[in-house]
Formats: sequence, structure tokens, C-alpha cells
Amino acid sequence: MTTDWDVIVIGAGPAGSVASRQIALLGRRVLLLDKKRFPRRKVCGACLNHSAVELLEQIGLGEMLQSCGGAELNHFQMRAGSRQLSVPLSKGLAVSRMLLDQRLVDEAIRSGVTFRDGVAASVGSVQSERRCVELRDSSPTTQREKTDETLTAKVVLVADGLGHPSLSGLSEFKDRPLRNARVGAGCEVRDWPSDYKSGTIHMAVGRRGYVGLTCVENCVLNIAAAFDASLLRAVGGPARAAASVLSDAGFPPIPALSNAEWLGTPALTRTTWPIASERLFVLGDAAGYVEPFTGEGIGWALSSAVLIAPLAHEACESWSPSLADAWRNDYVKLIRRRQRICRMLAELLRFPTCVRIAMFLLPWMPRLLRWLVRGVSLPR
Ligand SMILES: Cc1cc2nc3c(=O)[nH]c(=O)nc-3n(C[C@H](O)[C@H](O)[C@H](O)COP(=O)(O)OP(=O)(O)OC[C@H]3O[C@@H](n4cnc5c(N)ncnc54)[C@H](O)[C@@H]3O)c2cc1C
Repeated sequence: MTTDWDVIVIGAGPAGSVASRQIALLGRRVLLLDKKRFPRRKVCGACLNHSAVELLEQIGLGEMLQSCGGAELNHFQMRAGSRQLSVPLSKGLAVSRMLLDQRLVDEAIRSGVTFRDGVAASVGSVQSERRCVELRDSSPTTQREKTDETLTAKVVLVADGLGHPSLSGLSEFKDRPLRNARVGAGCEVRDWPSDYKSGTIHMAVGRRGYVGLTCVENCVLNIAAAFDASLLRAVGGPARAAASVLSDAGFPPIPALSNAEWLGTPALTRTTWPIASERLFVLGDAAGYVEPFTGEGIGWALSSAVLIAPLAHEACESWSPSLADAWRNDYVKLIRRRQRICRMLAELLRFPTCVRIAMFLLPWMPRLLRWLVRGVSLPR
């Protein structure tokens, strides 16, 4: 395997796979790395909003997306206490992350990207106009001996998700989780009450967390939640926390929750700064995370992937600090500003009185409702 690359991309979620594909299409030699073996599960509501679907179509991945067989999303139904709010959605799609992420990696490979999974990467210093990347075999030691190797690249993209673990060796990158940030948890079930309809994002909102439920391909119900750590401790785990939030919000119980295989995340909402350094760009959740509302996270990850490609291509020709500045500006203008509405809504969900007032008023204020939906999900 070659050790020197034009571009190394760390993390094969939507941000990393699409960025590596777009850069390979510009003629660069790209290596895409992921510490997990693919296909892999991921805590996520599995909802692609209008903006994400449109963006995939624009870059020629519309057919791939349709071939996943996901459910078209046309409603967002939220329940809190005794109230219910139903909002029409346009052009959303629900696809499991196991399938979507594998298909995006396949498309990257088809465009010339080399993919290695089961290797944990960590970013090192710049030497002789190259950024170093250390690799460690992340498969269980019982199966394979751990091997360390060092690769180099003209440019490294960090798309390794929440908390950007591959940057832990570089002290200039600060990652601050919000003081009261929630933690994520998710699972899939095959048996569930018929009240949870395909095509609808069901959202149960409680005082100490919320649970989103969506039917994905092959009639599987995907469940993704964000809880206060105190709720998880008090009830003894995500299955019970989800059951209590669903019951408080008036959704029917799902007995299969207690036997499901749950995955968790670290603290969710956080900001990363800086998001670029010499021969290094940070994108997707690694650049900062806001609790998503009706399926925005993947859209932001895809947008940042498409935005970064021409900059990374240019950086391969010759590095200039102005490229790092350009990425900071683009990212703030096009991604961070859009995240503000979601951050505001996520904060609002923490106060039951605000939720009750909003759910009472919003149906009478269709223009405000439309503005909120457009703000978080429509393409620009
Ligand atoms: C509860 C919850 C519900 C959500 N619901 C939705 C939703 O419905 N719709 C939506 O659009 N978004 C949703 N999101 C957000 C969405 O999941 C993320 O925004 C999206 O996955 C970001 O993509 P990414 O490519 O930046 O990172 P990720 O998808 O997290 O990918 C990062 C990849 O990097 C790999 N990695 C990590 N460390 C290393 C390393 N050291 N070396 C190599 N590889 C590494 C990981 O294995 C992973 O595959 C939700 C998130 C949560 C927590």
C-alpha cells in the first residue's frame, strides 16, 4: 500500500465518503480510512431532509439514494404532554445508516478512492510539506496483531465525527461540549405498534430527553434519542429512558425496546475551534455538533463535504494559509449560521412550558411554522 497520498480522509461517515469521492473526481489520489469495520451501525435518526436529498441528487448520487429503498418522509409529528403538532415535510427520505454509509463508501471507491476500514487514525505534525497520519489496527487484538504505520499526505481531512478523536494529539484543537449537553442512544426494532407509521418522523419530547422514531427500509423501526445523563442514571439505561419519554408524551409502548441492542454516543452538542490548520481541514460533526431536529446533521455533513473538495484540490497544488481562512469563512457562512435555528429549537425543547406554549401557538401561525421548517430543511 502506498504511504504517500494527495489526500487522506479520516472517517467514512457521509462527510468523509462524499468529500473523498468529490476530491477523487477532481483527479486526486485519495485514501479514506475508518476505525470501524464496514458496514457498521451508527446512532442516528436515519432521516435525510430535503436539503440532503437534493444535494445528493446534484452530485449525481440520486439514483444510488433511491435504490436504497428508504421510506419517503412527508410528516413530522411531535407529541409532548397531552399536545400534538403535525408538520408536513417535503422530499425527505429515511434510510438506515448501515446501508446509506456503505453505499456512499461504494460510490467513493467507484470514483477511484482507496478505502481501508478497521484502522484508527491519529493526525500528526507537518514535515517536508506533508501532514503525517498514524494508523493503528482497531480490530480486536485477539483476532489480529496490532500494527502501527505512518502515512503522509499533502492534505488531511478530519471527518471522524463527534469530538474528532483523531485530533487528540494536536493541542491547538479545542472541543467544548455544552455544559448540559445530552448524550445520544439508538437501536432498531422489527416489532412495533402500527401507530408508528412509515413516512412520518415521530418525535416524543420529555423534560429530560426526546426520542425520534422512523420506519426505514425493510420495515425496520429506527429509534434515536437524546437524553440528559441524569435520566439515564435514574432509570438505569436507554431502553427505560426511551420507554418513559414515550409514555410521558402519549405514544404507545414498544415492548421490543428492552431487548434491543442499544448503541450510545458521547456528549452531543459541542463546538470545535479552529476548524483548519496547516494542510488540515475539519468537517462534518468533527467541526461541531448541534442536536438535529428533523434530519439536518447528514445534510450539514454532505454540504461541508461538497464545499471542501475544491479547497482540498487547490491545497494539493500548493498550501497557503488563505485556504484555511477560506474554509473558516465558508463553514461559518454556510453551516454554522444554519445550525443556529436547530440549537435554538433544541434549547427550547428543554423547557416544558415553552414546548406547551409553542405547540399551542404554532398550528395558528402557519407562516412561522413554514419558516422554521424551511430554515432547517430546505436547500440553499
Ligand atoms: C440521536 C441522534 C439522532 C440523529 N438523527 C439524525 C437524523 O435523523 N438526520 C440527520 O441528518 N442527522 C441526524 N443525526 C446527526 C448525524 O448522525 C450526524 O450529523 C452525521 O452522522 C455526521 O456525519 P459525519 O460524516 O460528520 O460523522 P459520522 O457519521 O459520525 O462518521 C464519522 C466516522 O469516523 C470514524 N472514526 C472515528 N474516529 C476515527 C479514527 N480515529 N480513525 C478513523 N475513523 C474514525 C467513525 O467510525 C465514523 O464512521 C443524529 C445524531 C444523533 C446523535
